[in-house]
Amino acid sequence: MRSTMMEVPLTLPLILERVERLFADVAVTSRRPDGGLERSSWGQVVRRVRQLADALRRAGLRRGERVATLMWNHARHLEVYFGAPAAGGVVHTLNPRLHADELAYIATHADDRFLVVDEGLLPVLEGFRHRAPFARIFVVRWQAGGALPDWAEDYEALVAEGAEDAPFAELDEREAAGMCYTSGTTGHPKGVVYSHRAYVLHALMTSLPDSIGYTMRDVVMPVVPMFHVNAWGMPHAAALNGARLVLPGPRLDALSLLELMVEEGVTLAAGVPTVWLGVLQALDEAPGRFRLAPGLRLVIGGSAVPEAMIRGFDRHGITVVHAWGMTEMTPIGSVFAPRPEFDRLDQETRYAWRASQGLPAALVQMRLVDDDGRELPWDGVRFGELQVRGPCVTAAYHARPDAAEAFTDDGWFRTGDVATLSPEGYLRIVDRVKDLVKSGGEWISSVELENALMAHPAVAEAAVVAIPHPKWDERPLACVVRRPGAAVRADELRAHLAARFPKWWLPDDFVFLEEIPRTSTGKFLKRALRERFRHHYGAG
Ligand code: AMP
Repeated sequence: MRSTMMEVPLTLPLILERVERLFADVAVTSRRPDGGLERSSWGQVVRRVRQLADALRRAGLRRGERVATLMWNHARHLEVYFGAPAAGGVVHTLNPRLHADELAYIATHADDRFLVVDEGLLPVLEGFRHRAPFARIFVVRWQAGGALPDWAEDYEALVAEGAEDAPFAELDEREAAGMCYTSGTTGHPKGVVYSHRAYVLHALMTSLPDSIGYTMRDVVMPVVPMFHVNAWGMPHAAALNGARLVLPGPRLDALSLLELMVEEGVTLAAGVPTVWLGVLQALDEAPGRFRLAPGLRLVIGGSAVPEAMIRGFDRHGITVVHAWGMTEMTPIGSVFAPRPEFDRLDQETRYAWRASQGLPAALVQMRLVDDDGRELPWDGVRFGELQVRGPCVTAAYHARPDAAEAFTDDGWFRTGDVATLSPEGYLRIVDRVKDLVKSGGEWISSVELENALMAHPAVAEAAVVAIPHPKWDERPLACVVRRPGAAVRADELRAHLAARFPKWWLPDDFVFLEEIPRTSTGKFLKRALRERFRHHYGAG
């Protein structure tokens, strides 16, 4: 029997029309690269989106063609972010922190036709422009005047070609709307192509009260860049719910963020642990200085949130919401929310749970699989590779038949993360498959050691890596950044860990560094540490 329901496609214009109709006056604030604030509203944003979408079509953008962006989080980026898909095109956010060779590869592999670039990022573009396929390049200029290079055009002049009241294109929900490349640390980055349907479903599922839980009363600030997996879907979800949106521009240092959060009354912000580590230090140094909105929630993910960070923000009345996700998942896969029975637990036990990666998000299926391909029970103890399935999970990589091994024969995606799932459904990421330490045939979780080290008051940051060892195959090495002024020694850190872990888990050595090298999206670049300390234990 066929259902009698309307087959209304789940497309971004559905979200845009709602926010335009219901929340036209709700503020969208964006920090310009020069530091000034640009105040606008959802009504104005959607008018610009309509205009840009119309202009892109007039400029010859055909269905499914890519519009690349090379921009920080601000109002112009937001327009393209919605405008390219609304025109039937695909917004492809490029990460300006990548190496020029990688950008050339990605833009070419994605076959990007147009590019919209921040004036301030022209030097980055210069590094790979000749190796990229852009037919037209539009520059967002923040200062009036100033000549453009002869290969570039003015973005405002492009927008002016469109009509503010142009209707949105009729789109199929399965059409491509956006594109992102993984920040993979080995081999070429791989592209994921998101559909309108995945974006809309992702916005809905992250809006649920036990998920990120956006409301129309929220003031939402994505610190996570729009080029890092759709800013975790925040702009879409803010529009869907009619929340205020604050875009922080290029200044992502702790003080700039805190000042903006105070000024705009931000209630919900998201970013990777590194960003919030700096913010927490600034709060600790000057308690009471920043009058943040009561009930502020920080969604933190991208790498594991140390329990110490959750406790640290609690001291300032700020709630950390730990989330896990992947580029391949649009990206949210799990979000922490306490089950009702948690109310009966003591505070210490609650902290341990809150440091988990949370419950599988709505519409996300999970399973754990051991080395022999057998499914493991959810007992919170046994760990295996986490595999996922769902309408917001990619089924393939763009034009990469060689990467098919990331998908199982029965249609699941292999995350490459090793995890446990508790009987209650809480996910704990134990490690990346390739970051686990294999010592004498047993596995050691680098993430657990790192989290314990970062709970030590003298430790600012710690990364634990597997180093080849002549006897044990691999042994852990702890790379530690001390807090300013702290003078902690290796034996003290070893004693600190010995209180929590079996002896054979303890790192054989501790090295003290000025900083931990990072990937372009702020994760520890463990590959660089493994390379650097390869021979530290006399093998490798
Ligand atoms: P990306 O595609 O760049 O978002 O990276 C996805 C990977 O980041 C995941 O496979 C995890 O290894 C890691 N990751 C993301 N969120 C978390 C988290 N909350 N805890 C631990 N690892 C995380």
